[in-house]
Amino acid sequence: MSRLVVVSNRVGPLKDTGRAGGLAVALVDALTETGGLWFGWSGDVSEEGTFGNLKQGGGTRKVAMATVDMTQADYDEFYAGYANRTLWPVLHYRLDLADFDRRFEEGYRRVNERFATRLRPLLQADDIIWVHDYHFLGFAAELRAMEVGNPIGFFLHIPFPAPEVLAGLPNAERLVRRMLAYDVVGFQTRRDAANFRRFAVEELGAVERDGDKLDIAGGTVVARAFPIGIDAAGFARQATTPEARRNTARTEKLLVGRQQIIGVDRIDYSKGLPERFRAFGRLLEDYPENRGKVSLMQVAPPSRAELDAYAEIRRELEELSGNINGRFADLDWTPIRYMTRSFTRRALAGLYRASRVALVTPLRDGMNLVAKEYVAAQRAEDPGVVVLSRFAGAAEGMPEALIVNPHSAEGVASSLQTALNMPLDERRSRWQAIFDRICQNDAAAWATSFLETLRGRATN
Ligand code: UDP
Repeated sequence: MSRLVVVSNRVGPLKDTGRAGGLAVALVDALTETGGLWFGWSGDVSEEGTFGNLKQGGGTRKVAMATVDMTQADYDEFYAGYANRTLWPVLHYRLDLADFDRRFEEGYRRVNERFATRLRPLLQADDIIWVHDYHFLGFAAELRAMEVGNPIGFFLHIPFPAPEVLAGLPNAERLVRRMLAYDVVGFQTRRDAANFRRFAVEELGAVERDGDKLDIAGGTVVARAFPIGIDAAGFARQATTPEARRNTARTEKLLVGRQQIIGVDRIDYSKGLPERFRAFGRLLEDYPENRGKVSLMQVAPPSRAELDAYAEIRRELEELSGNINGRFADLDWTPIRYMTRSFTRRALAGLYRASRVALVTPLRDGMNLVAKEYVAAQRAEDPGVVVLSRFAGAAEGMPEALIVNPHSAEGVASSLQTALNMPLDERRSRWQAIFDRICQNDAAAWATSFLETLRGRATN
């Protein structure tokens, strides 16, 4: 079978450290199966940048790793600039938070081109290439310009917005046209894939065929949903490791029979954290029987702290949790336990187990793996309930969760009340349906399905 080449901004880790995401695990499995090469940014900034030595090593017998540095300008314009200040907000439907700067756009193009140039000599004739995420939308277009004829697929881990939103991004047509250089473009949900196809049809004159294909300029692109999964069986095992058990026990001891709602999110405006705190306050307001009985544990490791939008949200969360705690707390009960630190996934598994409800209410999210991990970590005999935003990609495949509109504090509070009082039978039947599905559509199945489609394109 042909060798697999994976391209992503961050490379590795190859071992399951307990912190690595399901994505890394799935990619390592796929890479190990056929032997492979993982290529991307080293994580280092140096003067030579993409012109410096290729860093190799850290791989295994079957999986090689190759990375290059960036210059400070690349980091500022490509990574912190176009990727995180322009594309991230726009693709999460937040045109109002996006910075449009020609230098960012040029930096993005330059780094895509330079990374493609560095990968080019490492490629073999029958390789298949799988590029990941919004950092590298233009990667295939660059490789094609260097006469690389190999099959090249792309998977977008974050949402793809409605064409009406994307049209607000300067030069969106050019960007999407470059994406059409891929053979397969994968998305988290059917809605994202349909948004992409509609943009290509309405703005670029592509012709839609067979539901998920686009014909344009003599070529055909498959644009379809491949919802990402987690290593469900592996995560379920994590929940019974000593570290997880310790966390379950410590939390349950503190709860002394009270119920816990859990939220786990990087601090990001897409996660709807202030709205969530307000909804929890509303629960205590509208259903006073929960006072003294139910608490919200929010794990919120900071991310991209250098951006203003992120610092602001941190301040807002401190103020909100302070207000709610000040108003409702009692001698032996704190309503919101808000922690801006990170936990290993193993430790999180234990916290999920000790929590009756997972509150997953992003305003927009590509998939949201936390929702799936929570389900995987539950005890089959006494599982908890997921309250899930309709705007998380996960909602498309989890109709048995309690689906909410995160903008409605009243609606979320009412669903929380339903979740907290749900009878055991109903909790078990809802949980079982979701658990079976996430086991079947796990991370390995996701990678297999994408790569089969890409290989199929290669033989057409
Ligand atoms: N996570 C973690 N430690 C933490 C918080 C989160 O390991 O303290 C992990 C979590 O288990 C999940 C991932 O980070 O695998 C978050 O993925 P998700 O899709 O929910 O959100 P993202 O951060 O990718 O937007």
